[in-house]
Amino acid sequence: MTSATDDRAGVPDSVDVLVVGAGPAGAAAAAHAAAAGREVLLADAAVFPRDKTCGDGLTPRAVSALESLGMGDYLAGRPTIRGLHLHGWGADQKVPWPASRFGDHGSAVARVEFDDAVRRFAVDRGARMLSAAKAVDVTMNGDRVDAVTVQTAGGPSSIRVNQVIVADGVRSTLGKTLGREWHRDTTYGVAGRSYVDSGDSDSEWMGSHLELRDPDGTLLPGYGWVFPLGDGTVNVGVGALATAKRPASLQLRPVLEHYARSIGDEWSLTSEPKRVASALLPMGGAVSGVAGRNWMLIGDAAACVNPLNGEGIDYALETGRMAVELLDASDDHTAAWPDVLRREYGQAFAAARRAAGLLTMPKTVPVLGRPGIRSAALMRAVVRVMGNLMTPEDSDVIARAWRAAGTAATRVESRPPFA
Ligand SMILES: Cc1cc2nc3c(=O)[nH]c(=O)nc-3n(C[C@H](O)[C@H](O)[C@H](O)COP(=O)(O)OP(=O)(O)OC[C@H]3O[C@@H](n4cnc5c(N)ncnc54)[C@H](O)[C@@H]3O)c2cc1C
Repeated sequence: MTSATDDRAGVPDSVDVLVVGAGPAGAAAAAHAAAAGREVLLADAAVFPRDKTCGDGLTPRAVSALESLGMGDYLAGRPTIRGLHLHGWGADQKVPWPASRFGDHGSAVARVEFDDAVRRFAVDRGARMLSAAKAVDVTMNGDRVDAVTVQTAGGPSSIRVNQVIVADGVRSTLGKTLGREWHRDTTYGVAGRSYVDSGDSDSEWMGSHLELRDPDGTLLPGYGWVFPLGDGTVNVGVGALATAKRPASLQLRPVLEHYARSIGDEWSLTSEPKRVASALLPMGGAVSGVAGRNWMLIGDAAACVNPLNGEGIDYALETGRMAVELLDASDDHTAAWPDVLRREYGQAFAAARRAAGLLTMPKTVPVLGRPGIRSAALMRAVVRVMGNLMTPEDSDVIARAWRAAGTAATRVESRPPFA
């Protein structure tokens, strides 16, 4: 078994599977591939532990993906989250996660810890880690990636590869080199997070505020969150939806600080927001060029993020597993990988990005929000969608309606998810 420490001593000449990016998507892929007996190199531009701008929330679906990775024990002693405490337009409701095959609880762990734990797990499974190694270019042989150039402190090195899994996150610079394109005419997210000291960091509920306002009181197309980390702090953040036609004009920091003040009493907050950071989020499979003959994009690189809440850790872990399953099942991933992604996420993403598109229209939010927050049935459906808990196998009325909306949306879309 390989040691869990970083190995920067040398860059190998060749490897069976190169995984670029050691966030949850890449680390999960590396762990699954190593467990399947493959020779795996997991390369990241950063040196871990490294921070990642995030809400740190783990949906039941993410907890379930961690369990199938073999990391079920990792969350022992971490927060157990029972559901969402939804607020807006003078009303609030605590809505537990609905019964689903993913189990009944979520959690929250700061990403600086979480990502390092998943990465170490991959290394313990047998993946070799190459830190401070940025993948900067590829050498093609026909339609195959023959080699990937990585830049390290020692200079550029070329690694010959059999398969490449690209998990390099939102910007996906290596993905771009391979032809990945992000379509910003489809709804995307702009989100900021912070850490705030709180007397309620042991809460079993994630706070979710659907009525988000800027310091002048203007309603914004987004939502605010408070995710309790169980260590005396909570992750407080705000996210807004935007499209190329209706870009989010908000200044995230003042909105976040205003939001933190507005929830200060409710969450017993005792400090100002610290470590404020923000990022853009491609969502709902709004990218094309997600695969080629011997390479696949996973996680954020493939825009696997829920358009209605900006959550993607669960999809990152899942796409890591599914990509490794495809390594054995296909000798050309060009069409096979987008087919897998569309089968698993296509309908849900198509429906969610249509709904998210509606929410970028200023008048829609109060029209839907004011009566919606008072309806227990509607809020249960909202929690299912916001927890990424609707699956292709669900056969109840809400799930069928959601799928029908997805099918209808796919028909009218000029460009379906992952195309
Ligand atoms: C403000 C905000 C809040 C969010 N809140 C939540 C939440 O509460 N719950 C949730 O589930 N999701 C949330 N998300 C989404 C979540 O953060 C992502 O979906 C998740 O991080 C995707 O994981 P990943 O492994 O694909 O990418 P990342 O975690 O971004 O990992 C990519 C890795 O690739 C490395 N890398 C990049 N380029 C290269 C290169 N060229 N060579 C080598 N390495 C490279 C980077 O150093 C990084 O380590 C949030 C996102 C934002 C912006």
